[in-house]
Amino acid sequence: MIYKLILGAFLALPLAGHAQQSMLQSGQLLKDLRILAADSLQGRSSGSRGNQMAQEYIIKRFSEIGLKAFNNNYRQPFKIARKNAADLDGVNLVGYIPGRSEKAIVITAHYDHVGVRKGEVYNGADDNASGVGALLAAATFFKKHAPEHTLIFLAPDAEEMGLQGAGAFLDNPPVPLQNILLNINMDMLSINSKGELYASGSFHNPELKAFVTQVKPRKHARLVLGHDDPQLGHNDWTNQSDHYQFHKRDIPYLYFGVEDHPHYHKPTDDFKEVNQLFYPDAASLVIDFILLMDKNMDKLPPRK
Ligand SMILES: [Zn+2]
Repeated sequence: MIYKLILGAFLALPLAGHAQQSMLQSGQLLKDLRILAADSLQGRSSGSRGNQMAQEYIIKRFSEIGLKAFNNNYRQPFKIARKNAADLDGVNLVGYIPGRSEKAIVITAHYDHVGVRKGEVYNGADDNASGVGALLAAATFFKKHAPEHTLIFLAPDAEEMGLQGAGAFLDNPPVPLQNILLNINMDMLSINSKGELYASGSFHNPELKAFVTQVKPRKHARLVLGHDDPQLGHNDWTNQSDHYQFHKRDIPYLYFGVEDHPHYHKPTDDFKEVNQLFYPDAASLVIDFILLMDKNMDKLPPRK
């Protein structure tokens, strides 16, 4: 009888206790960021040789991790429109882990940046090699911890040219649009002196707020709500990154990112500025949130 009671108490733990916490390899995370932010990639601007080198690296990592590809191809090509210039060839990178359900969560982190300007390389370590590193860490985690829902990992191109890659993905989605329940977008996760990572978007989808607050803070990073009320003017981030393309199509999103900092869209956004304690904890918080949503998506109201 005592044995049964103790067993019962243990079984009840996952329900009563804190949300589950993930583990990641911070060495691999920092390595992925450092490689994507190297001078040799020349700022990864869409259509450039450096952007193509970034694609090759991310594809190699998708394959090592064991992500599946739609139609045997991680690449989704599309045309990037430009004002007063010819179209460029854009390439989104897409892999997935099938869940027990066909309903999907799309996890995004754009890999392009702004390239070279006036002879200076803009490496975009925080914006957004950091998000891609975290995307790869999330893929690695869920490959080992099978998800309930299908998890689609999307690294869009041409975010810096008007969120065009994410738009192209949703115009030609590899799964029916109505199967996409949620977007979790990461853009700038690695530079913050206050240990704050914003979880933005619950203003539009208030039912997500209770899940954000269940994510337990880490030693060097915690989640903060905000930056999603249109009344905030330029401090409203609703249309500031790829999640906006999902929001426009009535797909709920949560965007994770840091406050603007002095290196934002500057040549100094470099690996050496990355906060090496904050960044792994920030990435872990996002993975914890994905874990929580994967287990609780069914509690959300059905999509319109
Ligand atoms: Zn960005």
